[in-house]
Amino acid sequence: MLMSTNTNENNILHIGFDDTDSKFGRCTTHLAFKLVSYLNKKDVKFLDYPLLIRLNPNIPWKTRGNGAVCLRIIMTKDNNSENIFDFIKNEIEKNSAIGKGANPGLVCLQSKEIPNEIKEFNRLAMFDILSKQKATKIAQKYNLKYVGFGNGQGLVGAMAAIGCLLTSDHTFEILAYRKIKSCGTSRIIDPINVMRLHDATFPSTFNSYDHINKRILILPHGSDPVFCGIRGEDPQVLYNSLKILNIKEELEGYMIYRSNQGTGMHLQNELKFSMIKSFTAGYSRCIIVTNPQVIQGGHVLFIVEDDSKNTCWAAVYEPTGLTKIASQLHRGDQIEIGFGVRKATSKHPKVLNIEYIFIHQLVQIYNTVNPICKDCRKRMKSEGKNKGYQCKKCKRIDKTNKKISLLKTRLIKEGLYIPTLKAHRHLTKPLHRYGKEKTKFFESGNVKLYPKWFEKFR
Ligand code: ATP
Repeated sequence: MLMSTNTNENNILHIGFDDTDSKFGRCTTHLAFKLVSYLNKKDVKFLDYPLLIRLNPNIPWKTRGNGAVCLRIIMTKDNNSENIFDFIKNEIEKNSAIGKGANPGLVCLQSKEIPNEIKEFNRLAMFDILSKQKATKIAQKYNLKYVGFGNGQGLVGAMAAIGCLLTSDHTFEILAYRKIKSCGTSRIIDPINVMRLHDATFPSTFNSYDHINKRILILPHGSDPVFCGIRGEDPQVLYNSLKILNIKEELEGYMIYRSNQGTGMHLQNELKFSMIKSFTAGYSRCIIVTNPQVIQGGHVLFIVEDDSKNTCWAAVYEPTGLTKIASQLHRGDQIEIGFGVRKATSKHPKVLNIEYIFIHQLVQIYNTVNPICKDCRKRMKSEGKNKGYQCKKCKRIDKTNKKISLLKTRLIKEGLYIPTLKAHRHLTKPLHRYGKEKTKFFESGNVKLYPKWFEKFR
């Protein structure tokens, strides 16, 4: 499908929605799948793949991965934004777990350009906590159509998704959906096929199979309608990967999303320790000021200081697989950390929960030892403070000798350390993607979507 973007102001619609699901079922992406199916019948054109945008992962009221969806369409003369908005509003009302934990939000922007304030809203939603009042204010200012259900918190995700253009780094995910009758039953898949998929397509697909822990990573575990999700760099490879799986279960269909998953987008804002807020995310270049201590459970704690000389506790948790490295760090080491901020409790202050460590510079560490006897080359014994040393063997006393410093070999190297695969969050950038980030999506003027990005089976 080759689409020209010589569209006018009035026929482009950006549709953002979020928070339709709860811990008891449903799924915002499945609603997106249903909406695309409807919009396809209405003969609208898609300006972009559906966007699956993961927002600040530290939001306490998220259901799972804090994902919101945006659809960008070009309306033809047979449809209008009023009808589309009303249809989606009704679908959200019918298909959301309102009253059971879901607080859906729907926002529609009819415009070719996305106002900078909405882009900025998205930038902030990646690492900060935003209010629905702020989202509503923007919606009113730019004359957007919007509706919130329940407490309306979903308006934040809906607005943020519209503001996320993903013009530089991005990934894709193909999600395959189950028939309603299968939801709640176990997902049957041949592990050999998942290994084959990984071996044949990595790194064009990633986080499908964890060879170290022998774990399948493409299957969710809940009763939601997603059968599986395969992540990768290219829609065509994802489509072929789904075929490799040879899934026996009768499926409802699949859809390919463009996403910020695997991009580390939540950690791109530098946070100063003096202004640190609970539940935010970011990075800091800092220096270690207390040697790491290993606490119960194998977690590692130390204090870091930023370049304004403010300090904060930092924690590396055992499941991240980073504790071996963290425990070898030392006072004076210069590092960069990506983190989420855990709120203070009555027992502890705010803590930076570390998501990656980049060791910039390791300090030289010295061990001090007693001097060696000049005559018999044996280590000498101290005679007491400022009283010199005596050789244990020949008993020679040397009143002027001093302790000597020996350079200790550091057991870790400078460089980047990220959590083990099983501890990855949706937004965690896998190691192999560093340096391979995409720099653009749109080739100026035209957007070409892979023709098989959506299919609903009969
Ligand atoms: P799933 O991954 O299954 O889609 P979820 O983890 O996305 O579920 P939601 O049910 O969507 O969870 O709940 C997340 C809620 O947090 C939404 O109401 C969303 O609008 C809101 N939210 C997202 N980002 C922010 C933010 N930065 N500040 C404040 N609220 C936010």
